[in-house]
Amino acid sequence: MLQCLLKLGDDCDPGRETGQAMEWVPEFTGVWPGKRMSARAPLSALTAWGVGGPADLVVQPANEEETERAVRLAVELGIPCRILGWGSNLLVNDQGIRGLVIRPSAGFSALEIAGDSVTAEMGVGLPVLARECARRGLSGMEFAIGIPGSLGGAVATNAGAEGSQMADVLAAIRVVRRSGVMEVRDARMLRFRYRHSALLEEPALVVSATLQLTGEEPGQVSERTRAVLEKRRRQPKGRSCGSVFRNPEGGSAGRLLEKVGAKGMRCGGARVPGEHANFVLAEGKTSASDILDLMRTLQERVLDETGTLLEPEVMFAGFEEGDPALPRGARVVREIT
Ligand SMILES: Cc1cc2nc3c(=O)[nH]c(=O)nc-3n(C[C@H](O)[C@H](O)[C@H](O)COP(=O)(O)OP(=O)(O)OC[C@H]3O[C@@H](n4cnc5c(N)ncnc54)[C@H](O)[C@@H]3O)c2cc1C
Repeated sequence: MLQCLLKLGDDCDPGRETGQAMEWVPEFTGVWPGKRMSARAPLSALTAWGVGGPADLVVQPANEEETERAVRLAVELGIPCRILGWGSNLLVNDQGIRGLVIRPSAGFSALEIAGDSVTAEMGVGLPVLARECARRGLSGMEFAIGIPGSLGGAVATNAGAEGSQMADVLAAIRVVRRSGVMEVRDARMLRFRYRHSALLEEPALVVSATLQLTGEEPGQVSERTRAVLEKRRRQPKGRSCGSVFRNPEGGSAGRLLEKVGAKGMRCGGARVPGEHANFVLAEGKTSASDILDLMRTLQERVLDETGTLLEPEVMFAGFEEGDPALPRGARVVREIT
């Protein structure tokens, strides 16, 4: 009966596909009111590609305390728990994700500015943050204006563009650790590399981040921000996760893909658009396996014809490490508990 209190996805029996009763689901009902918790909710609705099966349970905390409580409860109950941001760099398995998924609710987005320092919660979107910084004459986030992710996801993936990245401006983060305990981490502890941080290896949930920016004349910062946005307008339109492969050392994934004739290639509903060889658009009824098939084909072709192994930039959720369906070098979203 308790399940009737939940907002259910298209499957009214949460345990049907897994063969498990998922008795643990009702443990969460008292903590998160209906709209911020969904059982068997299709994750396709929460990802930019619009593909992927359901998670057993998605909770969307609105503040630090609720986030901490969600992780603690998952630890106590022994439920695997993964973190989702806005799903703009993520391919979710067609079979979905077993266990709990934590994702920031829209309300988890406070922003505080003190001098040249900005502290924002994990659900703040990068475009909003970039625009707000420009308006206040704070330089450093101009690159982020066209990146459609949450601050939490941007920190974890060290998002970047135009030669800048999160690592350049990040001072510290507040995280909920595996154990469910909150702690402050200095940015230097995050071992940032190109589109990578320690948070992808040993997940901890970023609840807020403090950025150290540089004060400038607001008009100049706004002008640079506008120029970045203008370039972005030339990117392919449609359901995508931006660049699917990371640039190899000293090279460009897009140029290699273009050289091997990637543009226009298709698997099912997944297609490489004519404007950008490192994008994959999901058109119509695309599945995650269409996108995987296309990525593996592109990767093999570039390796065969140029000798360079392109590694995925997007992350993969609901897969085991080393799953043969994944492209080589794929990074899977690991469990926080
Ligand atoms: C049109 C388009 C253009 C893009 N352009 C760029 C670009 O120029 N540069 C770039 O770097 N990326 C780009 N991206 C990819 C994407 O927007 C970024 O990587 C973004 O930072 C991901 O944020 P997200 O909230 O969507 O994270 P998600 O995709 O939801 O998650 C990505 C990873 O971050 C982890 N994560 C998410 N939130 C948290 C959190 N609060 N705490 C800890 N871990 C967390 C997840 O577990 C997962 O491993 C683009 C995407 C699109 C669709």
